[in-house]
Amino acid sequence: MTVASALKPAAKIDFDGPYALTINGRMVETNKSFDVLNPATNAVFAKAPEGTAEHMEAAIAAAKAAFPKWAALSWDERGALVEAYADALEAHKEELITLLTMEQGKPRHSMAKGEVEAAIFWVREVAKRRLPIEMLEDTADHVVEVHHTPLGVVGAITPWNFPVLLGLWKVAPCLVTGNTMVMKPSPYTPLCTLRFGEIAQTVFPAGVFSVVSGGNDLGQQLTEHADIAKISFTGSTATGKRVMASGAGTLKRVTLELGGNDAAIVLADADWEPLIPTLFWAAFGNSGQWCIASKRLYVHRDIHAAFVEAFVAFGRQQTVGDGMDPNTDLGPIQNRMQYDKLKDLFADTKAQGYKVPLGGTIDESLAGNFVPVTIVDNPPEDSRIVQEEPFGPILPIIAFDTVDEVVEKANATIYGLAGSVWGRDREAAIAVAKRLETGTVWVNEIHIHGIDIPFGGHKQSGMGVENGHEGLAEFTNTKTLMFHK
Ligand code: NAD
Repeated sequence: MTVASALKPAAKIDFDGPYALTINGRMVETNKSFDVLNPATNAVFAKAPEGTAEHMEAAIAAAKAAFPKWAALSWDERGALVEAYADALEAHKEELITLLTMEQGKPRHSMAKGEVEAAIFWVREVAKRRLPIEMLEDTADHVVEVHHTPLGVVGAITPWNFPVLLGLWKVAPCLVTGNTMVMKPSPYTPLCTLRFGEIAQTVFPAGVFSVVSGGNDLGQQLTEHADIAKISFTGSTATGKRVMASGAGTLKRVTLELGGNDAAIVLADADWEPLIPTLFWAAFGNSGQWCIASKRLYVHRDIHAAFVEAFVAFGRQQTVGDGMDPNTDLGPIQNRMQYDKLKDLFADTKAQGYKVPLGGTIDESLAGNFVPVTIVDNPPEDSRIVQEEPFGPILPIIAFDTVDEVVEKANATIYGLAGSVWGRDREAAIAVAKRLETGTVWVNEIHIHGIDIPFGGHKQSGMGVENGHEGLAEFTNTKTLMFHK
């Protein structure tokens, strides 16, 4: 392993400096690096260190060595350090926002700013959360207590759509509960994670939190490693299955936040006109590259035609462009692999002759991965655009006649991440919401998350939850202690 021990972390991070892995409290340079592209131009704008199996091994060993002392700190001591981490992140907020736009593509002034600010807020608030000892029995002669003890070393694997928020959603609860962590970001968006790893070295003891960037094989290594107690994974359902399979050898705990094909259901009585902007951004925020984007919009047939017309008119006003431009509403697709998948889906939509009242044609002469806002009017239920998770700015708006029919269609999927129901009669809308087979369902609101609100998928959208008491508890063992007085 090439260790550039000269690169000892300073209190203030140089965002213009080279990127390095963070292992055992130190910046570690690698012999090899890989290109990071700006999705708005497809030009290489940075080189990320390509970690090897040896680097990963060293990071896991350091996390294992750091664990006993870290776990032995009190909750309050750990919480204070996690809060200090939020302060350290805050000091670099603007640089992180810019870097996020550069590597991910999302508009700097809206989505990138929102993501980084939410992530820092999360770290600060999670630092204050505790899992107190539960007293199940305390009688004259017998006591039964439930304790939450840390698991050990947690491996974290993150995707490219929200690398900062989804990464820090893992770091804060993992560390405050007394575990140590090794994180592997997506090779498409490694930079913000490398920087927040670097920032972490100014706060936490060596080995408590390390970041190793590189290929997918590093993720595989984490999932198989005997010294990793748990994998906290966010990504696609296909990879989630591989994570679970390779973690089985050592019976790892897994939290899997996976794909979704969320339905938004607009009932006949909905006061739908004022909802158009909300429903538009629910589908097209982050250019549709969102696990909980509304990916199927079911609108009652009585209002469907007028709804589509208004939705298209709103969509037509939005600008797709470079996320650094303050006039941009939707940034590019993050990577060429996803762009090519979308090209294929667009070609299918065209070949099938579906009605496309907005967008539909990707201008391949553009240097960046730009995809236009596209609306598909009432495609058949078995079409690819309805059945697949597109992960891009293309949305089917489907007419339905009865509540039973729409509930059946909404549930007829392997996914069960989230969904929403919109209607003037709140009780009727709640009744529909209760029938949806999803981990989260919003009624007349959408995309509300909270530190104390558990979030996770049903069916093949995942296993376990993040956030809330339950999310925190998933970073711990349940340990029952009982004794006679
Ligand atoms: P992905 O599954 O391709 O990659 C996710 C991560 O897994 C990356 O870091 C990748 O390097 C790593 N990886 C790849 N192969 C691996 C292996 N064999 N073992 C271990 N790790 C491996 O997902 P993506 O394309 O980066 O992200 C998009 C997907 O993530 C979408 O399906 C989206 O719905 C889902 N997602 C879910 C949530 C949620 O909270 N439920 C949030 C965001 C994204």
